[in-house]
Amino acid sequence: MILGTHCTRRCAFCNVEKGFPQRVDPEEPYRLLEAVKVLGLKYVVITSVTRDDLPDGGAKHFAECIRVLKENIPDIKVEVLIPDFRGNRNSLETVLAQKPIVLNHNVETVPRLYPTVRIGADYRRSLEILKWSKEIDRGIYTKSAIIVGFGEKKEEIIKTIEDLREVDCDFLVIGQYYQPSLKYHPVVKYYTEEEFKELEEVAYGLGFKFVVSKANARSSYKAFESLLST
Ligand code: SF4
Repeated sequence: MILGTHCTRRCAFCNVEKGFPQRVDPEEPYRLLEAVKVLGLKYVVITSVTRDDLPDGGAKHFAECIRVLKENIPDIKVEVLIPDFRGNRNSLETVLAQKPIVLNHNVETVPRLYPTVRIGADYRRSLEILKWSKEIDRGIYTKSAIIVGFGEKKEEIIKTIEDLREVDCDFLVIGQYYQPSLKYHPVVKYYTEEEFKELEEVAYGLGFKFVVSKANARSSYKAFESLLST
């Protein structure tokens, strides 16, 4: 996770520290490179806190991280899990210009629950990020994730899956919400294995290339495997 430890948003499910963001460290891409080399990784997912304080939302820093990794490890595959950049298309273009293999942006929940669950975000804006990504570079796969258990209805989840397909999203992850502590949003429902399976079938039926739908699945789970399906 790049761009510091403090997020400028306050999603009701997320345990990441909130508060005053840190200075952007220009050395971070090189430290990232070092870590990837030491770990011998061939597939890397780079994500960040949301940085609404930065004019580009941190896009140039994302791009620099991809550039440094790809320049120094020629066969590396880099997936980016980006924030919404407050709907700044130029920021998205900056990141995509460095050709990550996958552009991941999570819608997280159904639109009705945005005001209480994903405070400060906008459902349509998030869908637009995924749509723009395909407009800018069709060769880059797109991916999104939904967390269930906040009190959404089944029809709302299915509509969200449909919305994601409508913007040509390739990969989908659906996972169960677990409450990090009592100060976070309560878990309204625990989904059964059968219910996750049903959602997976709905998503495949709509044409997703790769779907992971299970309680413990998170956005980066089986990230590399999703590519094998293409
Ligand atoms: S924007 Fe991302 S990192 Fe920030 S609080 Fe929400 S989920 Fe957590």
